[in-house]
This record gives sequence, C-alpha cells and structure tokens, in this order.
Amino acid sequence: MPVLVMKFGGTSVATLDRIGRAAKRVAVEVSKGYDVIVIVSAMSGKTNELVGWVNETSPFYDAREYDAVVSSGENVTAGLMALTLQEMEVPARSWQGWQVPLLTTSAHGAARIEDIPPANIMQKFGEGMRVAVVAGFQGISPEGRITTLGRGGSDTTAVAFAAAFEAERCDIYTDVDGVYTTDPRVCAKARKLDRIAFEEMLELASLGAKVLQTRSVELAMRYNVKLRVLSSFEEPSDEAGTLVCGEDQIMESNIVSGVAFSREEAKVTLVTIADQPGIAAAIFGTLAEAGVNVDMIVQNVSETDYQGHEGRVTDMTFSCPTDQLKRAEKALEAARDAGRLKFDQLWAETDVAKVSVVGIGMRSHAGVAAKMFETLATENINIKVIATSEIKISVLIERKYLELAVQALHDAFELERA
Ligand code: ADP
Ligand code: ASP
Ligand code: MG
Repeated sequence: MPVLVMKFGGTSVATLDRIGRAAKRVAVEVSKGYDVIVIVSAMSGKTNELVGWVNETSPFYDAREYDAVVSSGENVTAGLMALTLQEMEVPARSWQGWQVPLLTTSAHGAARIEDIPPANIMQKFGEGMRVAVVAGFQGISPEGRITTLGRGGSDTTAVAFAAAFEAERCDIYTDVDGVYTTDPRVCAKARKLDRIAFEEMLELASLGAKVLQTRSVELAMRYNVKLRVLSSFEEPSDEAGTLVCGEDQIMESNIVSGVAFSREEAKVTLVTIADQPGIAAAIFGTLAEAGVNVDMIVQNVSETDYQGHEGRVTDMTFSCPTDQLKRAEKALEAARDAGRLKFDQLWAETDVAKVSVVGIGMRSHAGVAAKMFETLATENINIKVIATSEIKISVLIERKYLELAVQALHDAFELERA
C-alpha cells in the first residue's frame, strides 16, 4: 500500500482534544488506503520546559543527558496518539527513535540522521498495522545513546521517513496554514505562498523562519520528497497549504519572496587582536571546538602600532545564537588564559536581531541590497553587520526595531502582492 507521512507539531498535539482531532485526520488517510507514518512533536511548551530544567540543573550540561531529558516529550505524545487511534479502531503502534531504529551521528543536541532501516515498521505494516506513530526529534547514536536532532527536529524526522519509505507525500501539519512571505504573527500583511522553491525555503528556514527545520528542507531537496505545509486546524483539501518544490515547478516568482528574521542573536567583538595569518583560524577553531555556531563575521580594517601594540592589529566581530554566548565567552577567555589567543577586550551585545530578505530572483536582479538599506535608513534603523549570498541579504540590527524592519521591508518589496 502507498505510504504517507503526516507530522503534527507541538500546537497540533497540545491537548488530548487536539490529539483526537489529529488522529481523525490520520484515520481519513487510512480509509483512503494509505499506510501512514505519523511523526509527533512534544506537546507545545514541553520541550522548552525540559530545556529549562536542564539549564537550571547544569548550565554547562553533558549533552548526552540533555538529550535523555529533552527527547522525552515526544515519547508521551507518540504513546497517546497510538492509544487514541486504537480507540478509533485504527490498528496503530508507537515507536521511539531507538526502536525503529533511527540511526544518527553522536553529535548530541544536533545529531544528523544516518539511516532509517524500514524493515521493522514494514513488517508490522505487512501484518495489518495501519499506522506507525513515531516520536519525532530523536534517534540513537552508534554508542547506543539517545540523541536529538536540534530544535524543530521533528520536521526532519518526518522528511527522513518520507525518503526512507518512499512516501507519496510528507504533510507537515502546524499552526499556520502554510509558508508565508514572512511570519504572519509579526506582519499582518504577510501572504500565504501556494508554492515555494526548495532553495528559498532553505534560506528562509536557516535565517530563522521557524515553520520548517533547515535540515528537513535539505533532505526534501536531496531526495525529492513532495513536501507540504498545512494547518491542522482547518479543513484539509488537495490545494491546502504550501507545496515546497523544485524551482521548475514555479511559474513566476518575485525578485524577493520572503523576509526572515531571528531574534536570538548575540554579537561579539574581540578588540585589538593581531592582524596576522592564523588568527582567524585560532578564534574560530576555538569556537568550533566549543560547539558554537558562528554566523556573520566581520574583520575591521587594521591599524599599525595601535596604542603600543606591535605590528598590525584589528578587531573581529561575529554573531552567534544568544543561548551559545556564554559558551563562546568561556571558550575565548579560556584560550586567552592558556596563551592561545590574544585580545584586549571582549564586548558582547545581546540586544540584536537579524533580518534577511530572500529570493531566487536576486540572482538576476541588481539593486535589492540598495533598496533594503534605503528602507532601513528611512526608518532610522542602524545596520550593525551585513552578510550576503546569492539569494539572500542579511543585516544585524538593534532588536527593538525588528518588527518595524520586517514590516517596512515587506512593504518595500511589495510582498503582499503576488
Ligand atoms: P510546529 O510546532 O508545528 O512545529 P513551529 O512553531 O515550529 O510549529 O512553526 C510554525 C510557526 O512558524 C508559525 O506559528 C509562525 O509563527 C512561524 N513562522 C515564521 N516564519 C514563517 C513563515 N514565513 N511562514 C509561516 N510561518 C512562519
Ligand atoms: N519538540 C522539539 C522542539 O520543540 C522538536 C519539534 O517539535 O520539532 O524543538
Ligand atoms: Mg517546528
């Protein structure tokens, strides 16, 4: 029988009542003749609570134990979903990641999926089971320990299952009815997109649009998974939601297709470092070893013999997620104390946010950056750091201007119009 993957996010399984509603949708697909793999998230708020408990217990925690704790939310919803389906007389069984098994690397907290052998679940389908409910977000490392896939990782679980089982479609049920030109909670004029190209979705996701985890889009692109985002609160139809697909399946697109943002950014400047070969490698090597995900990087113009320093010196600025700032500071200071790095001061700013405009049309159109900077200037918003790639431009700004910036850019690029 054809296989369908249906993923329900935290808000869609937040209460027993909502689990019941989700189960009804699953039952409809079963009645159409599909064997269904349901991927569930933890009830909304649960993972945050678990992460909070870990941080309170151990600020520089052992990542293996972090995973042991934060993976547990999904176990509850998987069991409850299977029970709900059984109550509806749909043959269902729950699976934790290790039982499948969903094999991952040992990068705890951000593990990558290596393989999902389908044999166990296929055997059950063969015996008449119609729904496999799988706890999202979790897997098992080569050492036999529980791993998690990074926040929002259930999306990736879903797409990986769709690829492994050659599913007809992967439907991501969430609390919005599709992918919008920007977060509809921040900009009332945001417009739902019927289709979005993999590359654009990849950029939007990696630049902060929560709706799909970046890795899930990468996998969908690689394995050509038919990926759809839709609401678990509205009546489903064949046209519902947003289809994430190849560029060739999109008739015409705007130059800019979306605005993404991330509130949780921190900016760090190392003041007065030597400007010589190997310094950047030493700084970013130290950060990589500490597991810090560095995003934007700027190195200032250097000065010679600055305030008694010998040779050329410069400043280095980078951004990283706010929750990794402490880790970054600790690693850099430890490297300085050990004599592996030299800098006069470390300045950390935590009141910054990143706003980005994304669109494949940028490849062939000039002037997007100028328009973006002009728009921000008109609103009197100062740009702290700029980064660009082929299809995106990102800026770091003061966090209190974030909403204003998103709305102004949405207007400037006329995203409310198709
Ligand atoms: P789930 O719990 O179902 O995984 P998430 O909270 O992870 O849901 O993702 C859905 C949320 O993503 C929406 O509620 C919305 O606020 C946010 N979001 C951010 N950018 C976008 C966008 N461009 N389109 C749709 N939703 C977006
Ligand atoms: N529950 C996990 C999280 O909140 C995974 C997910 O929902 O995708 O990040
Ligand atoms: Mg999510």
